[in-house]
Amino acid sequence: MKSLVLLGGGYGNMRILSKILPEVLPQDYQVTLIDRMPYHGLKTEFYALAAGSKSDKDVRVNFPKDERINTVYGEITDIDLDSQIISVGQSRVDYDELVIGLGCEDKYHNVPGAKEHTYSIQTLAAARKTYHDISELPSGAQVGIVGAGLSGIELASALRESRDDLDIFLYDRGERILNQFPEKLSNYVKKWFDEHNVTVVPNSNIVKVSPGVLYNKDTENKHDLIVWTAGIQPVALVRNLPVEHSQSRRVIVNQYHQIPTYPNVYVVGDCANLPFAPSAQLAEEQADQIAYVLKTIWQGKPLPEKMPDIKIQGFLGALGEKKGFAYLMDKTVTGRLASILKSGVLWLYKHHNG
Ligand SMILES: Cc1cc2nc3c(=O)[nH]c(=O)nc-3n(C[C@H](O)[C@H](O)[C@H](O)COP(=O)(O)OP(=O)(O)OC[C@H]3O[C@@H](n4cnc5c(N)ncnc54)[C@H](O)[C@@H]3O)c2cc1C
Repeated sequence: MKSLVLLGGGYGNMRILSKILPEVLPQDYQVTLIDRMPYHGLKTEFYALAAGSKSDKDVRVNFPKDERINTVYGEITDIDLDSQIISVGQSRVDYDELVIGLGCEDKYHNVPGAKEHTYSIQTLAAARKTYHDISELPSGAQVGIVGAGLSGIELASALRESRDDLDIFLYDRGERILNQFPEKLSNYVKKWFDEHNVTVVPNSNIVKVSPGVLYNKDTENKHDLIVWTAGIQPVALVRNLPVEHSQSRRVIVNQYHQIPTYPNVYVVGDCANLPFAPSAQLAEEQADQIAYVLKTIWQGKPLPEKMPDIKIQGFLGALGEKKGFAYLMDKTVTGRLASILKSGVLWLYKHHNG
């Protein structure tokens, strides 16, 4: 029996599973899916768990059940590409083909104290802890959110709706929020924050964090709880693989999404170096291509000389439960429509994967 091993049950590998089961996977293959969690975590919703606007069961779905999927739950501690062995604690799993889809973790940009003194929403366990400690905050407590990208904006707005008794500060590195997108989009999001009493701090540069204090350039800001949403990088296991990496420590892959020196190893999602910002949407588009490459190889057919370009539709963000913002096919969409679109995408995703 041959073995295809999938590391990480995130958006990328869930999509690969759905594409290769039940028909594409050859009869002499077994799939082993390894994750620390016994379910697929909906990372795009972790901000809502942390804010208390969604429950734990709303941000996870079960892994697919199939007699040819063998699931291993535990912490992956080593990936040995030469001997083709994965270590999960004391257990060893070997593979013929491997897909690495372990996602990313916070990047602290060498800011002293940031790792030690801020909360995270990058893993389900971290988002649960953030939720727990936010829930314990007394009325009038001050929450600082560092980073006004998609996840920082979604967290700040969900937290506002979940706790109207907290003072919320959102630290933005830019002159205006979402400054790489049209001003119309920025203005809409900023207006929502103004109307909902969330303080956006533009042109921020957080240089240090100590317990309860954020140092924004030379200003000290006291906060009862600080959440870091100011950058991501592939998980350490992937950053430390003995392969070629990009500047952002993502693994360089060829057009078939294989590691050039280990063509039986594919990298999907946030760990792979691709010409777009990492996203669940990108992980899924790439996963479709990996499933196609695997199928072509299993069928003994030649791979196409040139793989099609990956296309990304844009992004959708939530501003609390009823409003949203989106940038889709170079068009700005705001308000209730964007919120409905976002809920629809999530509903469809759960429907297909639940
Ligand atoms: C708050 C937030 C909002 C977001 N919103 C959007 C959005 O609206 N749209 C969008 O497209 N993207 C969004 N993203 C980005 C998106 O979530 C990621 O790009 C996507 O999850 C990447 O998919 P992946 O398959 O690479 O990895 P992930 O989905 O992160 O999955 C990685 C898996 O690996 C497992 N794992 C990692 N390390 C280990 C280990 N050592 N041992 C065992 N298991 C391990 C994890 O448990 C996890 O299940 C958002 C992210 C965040 C944090």
